[in-house]
Amino acid sequence: MEYRHLGRTGLKVSAISLGSWITYGGHVNNEHAFDIFKKAYDAGINFFDTAENYSAGKAEIVLGEAIKKFGWKQNDLVISTKVYFGLNNSADPSNPINNVGLSRKHIIEGLNLSLKRLDLPYVDIVYAHRPDRDTPIEEIVRGFNYLINSGKAFYWGTSEWSAVEIADAWRVADKLNLIGPAVEQPQYNLLVREKVENEFRWLYEKYGLGLTVFSPLKQGILTGKYNGQSQPPADSRLATAKDKYSVAYSKTFGNETWQRELELVEKLKPVAQELGVSLAQLALAWVLKNENVSSVIIGASSPAQVDENVAALEVAKKLNGDHLKKIDEVLGN
Ligand code: NDP
Repeated sequence: MEYRHLGRTGLKVSAISLGSWITYGGHVNNEHAFDIFKKAYDAGINFFDTAENYSAGKAEIVLGEAIKKFGWKQNDLVISTKVYFGLNNSADPSNPINNVGLSRKHIIEGLNLSLKRLDLPYVDIVYAHRPDRDTPIEEIVRGFNYLINSGKAFYWGTSEWSAVEIADAWRVADKLNLIGPAVEQPQYNLLVREKVENEFRWLYEKYGLGLTVFSPLKQGILTGKYNGQSQPPADSRLATAKDKYSVAYSKTFGNETWQRELELVEKLKPVAQELGVSLAQLALAWVLKNENVSSVIIGASSPAQVDENVAALEVAKKLNGDHLKKIDEVLGN
């Protein structure tokens, strides 16, 4: 495993981390989830990402149980969670009115509830899962700094914020002599590049912003397993969709965007073949090549996927300028 600094901080995170959205506490049963966590830990993954709303809190519970079951020590791990959506997501009327967003109340209560589910005294990183444009940025910055000062989190970050919103948080933090966000969590993969490569470009140098990037396989499309299929493969995220995100996503199967993306994936096959690697490994290696990426958060529904995906670290070492140029050419970006 390779370990990288989280942006400009002293914290070292595995270059590949394991996220628990949809899968743990959701699509796979707990025993299977434990096997996947164990495989990841044994491969040197020290960084596990979750959120209050993943499987309505169940993902945090399973992760906490895995830590206990295997007797892992928290000082060997980096655990991150996120507040914003509450348990059931902001738009769900069953969510209590103040159990969403980034009010001081929800930032503090939200993390306290996450810690209870994880059964841990602290997390390493707490993220603002989305921007909250109805709450003053000063209240948000102070809320996250309170969590850090009370020892419940060591760093705070943002997810799916714009560059301007991140810079605004830093401006307020500097003015108040407080800590700004160390890390942003955006989507980044061969098919979604704009934010990381353009919009955020000036933030890396100016604020030392780290990136923990999500959906590096674009939820599986970049593995090529959906190419040439009239139905999603039986064991895939699209076929096993249960929660509202994956059910909504499964409905995109076969639509125009989907077809266009599959055509691009098809064009990547010769590059993967030339390197003698799977498409998943090529896609992950490409993300790993970006030096602004602190960690690539993978999802995995089996231990075998962890093995295959972690091997992308070796593929990244082989990926040279010619390969990268070829990839840009075939993708037209
Ligand atoms: P990916 O794009 O890597 O998709 C992961 C899924 O692809 C797996 O669950 C599996 O699904 C399939 N897969 C993975 N590896 C392989 C392989 N080698 N061969 C075939 N299929 C494979 O990442 P996710 O979309 O899951 O996101 C990763 C993490 O990022 C999340 O768990 C979460 O922690 C974070 N995230 C954060 C968000 C945010 O808003 N901050 C939003 C989304 C994710 P299957 O086998 O079931 O098809």
